[in-house]
Amino acid sequence: MTVPVAGPAPAAPDAPGTDRPGTDQPGTDQPGTDQPGTDRPGTDRPGTDRPGADRPGAKPMLEPPQSGAVLVTMWLFVVVPFAALLAAAPVAWGWGLSAVDLAIFAVGYLVACLGVTVGFHRYLTHGAFKATRWLRVALAVAGSLAIEGSVTQWVADHRRHHAFADRDGDPHSPWRYGSDVRGLTRGMFFAHVGWLLKREASNRERFAPDLLADPDIRRVDRHSLALIIFSLGAPAAAGGLLTWSWPGVLTGFFWGGLVRVALLHHVTWSINSVCHVVGRRPFRTRDRAANFWPLALLSFGESWHNSHHADPTCARHGVQRGQIDGSARVIWLFERFGWVHDVRWSKSGRPPADADRSAPQVGPVSTDRVLTARHS
Ligand SMILES: [Zn+2]
Ligand SMILES: [Zn+2]
Repeated sequence: MTVPVAGPAPAAPDAPGTDRPGTDQPGTDQPGTDQPGTDRPGTDRPGTDRPGADRPGAKPMLEPPQSGAVLVTMWLFVVVPFAALLAAAPVAWGWGLSAVDLAIFAVGYLVACLGVTVGFHRYLTHGAFKATRWLRVALAVAGSLAIEGSVTQWVADHRRHHAFADRDGDPHSPWRYGSDVRGLTRGMFFAHVGWLLKREASNRERFAPDLLADPDIRRVDRHSLALIIFSLGAPAAAGGLLTWSWPGVLTGFFWGGLVRVALLHHVTWSINSVCHVVGRRPFRTRDRAANFWPLALLSFGESWHNSHHADPTCARHGVQRGQIDGSARVIWLFERFGWVHDVRWSKSGRPPADADRSAPQVGPVSTDRVLTARHS
């Protein structure tokens, strides 16, 4: 979750050709452009050799400080759904979880999660494919239902993450406070949720100018608050209509609204925290992103995070044999239907020869070595 933004995005002149999101934009990590060898997570300054790094005359990295009201809203949206998640088990035990609740929960999770993974992330942040106009808008709307903030802010934060991954300037690196147990514990909390609560919003004019220049996306951005209300209200309405009862309204809101949002938040946030600490690292990257298989199903393939950081614009993250990637399958379906084109699939059977099998696989020490992206 980032900011539940109610305000309009800053106006920007309309620009043609905005169907190539994420490509050649500031802050977008292009594989193969890295300097080999010398950087270590957390030890260098943003600035010299990377796309998105600070240069003389560069736009400021952050938006102006946020108002108290925004921060209070943020706390509410972090704490309330999580409290609902904690309460979910005993409530299910007492009331039973009906098939209607489960169906509403599943549909809501599917739509919002794919909106984030396929829409916000692979398409709008990284430009892994091009989409027809209606699908572009639909994906931006679906992602907004995850209540992880406005689409432009989400994309700006994520592009900054790739530009400075696990270094100064990364909005949510778990390595921010060092690699000893205490520092890492604090860093994990920060990467998971702490960065949202003491928020430094990435400057959208610097990191997402292509989206600010798109009137369709700006319109979705302006309706962030309405989409939040819809995201919580629709499950309640569905529960009421399907059961024709007030308890149905309540349980629809609880399971399909609060619990669904909380679960989706923690799965998304785990990509930032867990997937930069624990897991396998078959590909060389400049950061500590790791493939964490237990989250592959729930995250629709986003937890193949080492592969993603090695080749950020690739539409498929689970590129190795047996790696389930639901988002890639959905993009494949969209391509079959003719709704998307120019999909950047990995070359068929991208050789595991690209993998650095000698790299240690688990835990914080494994990327103390200097690793360099050489995935192209
Ligand atoms: Zn990452
Ligand atoms: Zn990414």
